[in-house]
Amino acid sequence: MSSQSTVYDELGVPTVINCAGEQTRISGTLMRPEAADAMRRAANAYVHLGDLQSRAGELITEATGAEAGYVTNGAASALTLGTAACIADNDYEVMNTLPRTDDVPDEVVIPCAHRNEYEVAYRVAGARLVSAGMNDLGNGLESVEPWEVAAAITDSTAAVTYVDRPHNQLSLQSVIDVAHERDVPVIVDAAAELPPTENLRRYIDVGADLVAFSGGKAVRGPQTTGILAGRAELVQSVALQHLPSGTHEDLWDPPRSLIDPDSVPGMPRHGIGRPMKVGKEELVGLIRALELFLEEDESEVLREWNERASFLMKKLREIDGLVVSVCNEDEPDTVTVLHVGLESTEELDIETLIRRLRAENPRIFVGEQTLNQGVFRIVPKTLTTDEARHVVDRIRAHVIDFEG
Ligand SMILES: *Cc1c(COP(=O)(O)O)cnc(C)c1O
Repeated sequence: MSSQSTVYDELGVPTVINCAGEQTRISGTLMRPEAADAMRRAANAYVHLGDLQSRAGELITEATGAEAGYVTNGAASALTLGTAACIADNDYEVMNTLPRTDDVPDEVVIPCAHRNEYEVAYRVAGARLVSAGMNDLGNGLESVEPWEVAAAITDSTAAVTYVDRPHNQLSLQSVIDVAHERDVPVIVDAAAELPPTENLRRYIDVGADLVAFSGGKAVRGPQTTGILAGRAELVQSVALQHLPSGTHEDLWDPPRSLIDPDSVPGMPRHGIGRPMKVGKEELVGLIRALELFLEEDESEVLREWNERASFLMKKLREIDGLVVSVCNEDEPDTVTVLHVGLESTEELDIETLIRRLRAENPRIFVGEQTLNQGVFRIVPKTLTTDEARHVVDRIRAHVIDFEG
């Protein structure tokens, strides 16, 4: 591993070797060096944030095929701002009371199978969540049918949300169809659904009104960025509630690609997006990262990840006491993820092993989502080859130590 000292060494904070994939609490992904460099250079001059958002919007529009695009403070903030746009549209009176939503439709319908811990993002905007469908008790039923989404839509509905995951049964198209029949917009949470790059366009192509991606996961932009793409009217509402105005009313000159000043009564007040500021450095970093993400050869990146997975599997299988398997063999076009189990001894069980790896310096984080099944996960995406070697050595050291 690199013996170069890091800024974290200077601060006395241990670094992490990330075997867990893109996880925010261990700081997402490593930003592309070109994006980090662009951020540093962004700090050298002032710029009007409206002009810069407008430029970012152009790129997002090209990349997604949407009418308009906007850079937010993470995908979660894109969901909050998108929800605020669906509730307030371009009504300043409503904007000025959010997150209070007296007398306006404020329900966001969510298929029950899509409920997840990020839904606080909708509530921050003032939304009340309404579940559609029922949970399946193992009968093999689909937990949510399109008619159940339709039945949950009422005069109080502001939006329907759809959280895209690879194993969704309910189709996005069916949800869009029932929502649009009632003139209700559909927000798609696709925060972690890149790659494949084609997903940038897929949701807009099938008619989603707004879609949110994380800028700090596979795009490898600044960790605090998100991408919102969708209908111009809704993105205008987002810009009205997010872009700082704060000038003399007569001098208000919003970026025309995002806001048509003739369509609104005048300059807006700071909206609900104000506490979710996006700075020039983040905007520039995201733009550069997205450009590079679009140019990247996806199959080459996947090949590299899977080579690292093969190396890890081979080396870990040589360690007595470990049981290593591929958890997603049936998905040839996705990154190989390993499940690692341990023949527990009195001294070492799997949880203790995970804790001990985390207590090292650098701290080694394996994925713990599968701990209830008695295994941990290794995702090769966020590791270098040197780090992969180090991880194998350290796991071996712990397992052998406690066997002997
Ligand atoms: C990561 C994630 C988010 C949040 O994205 P940020 O860019 O970290 O704000 C939201 N929803 C889902 C499904 C996610 O995986």
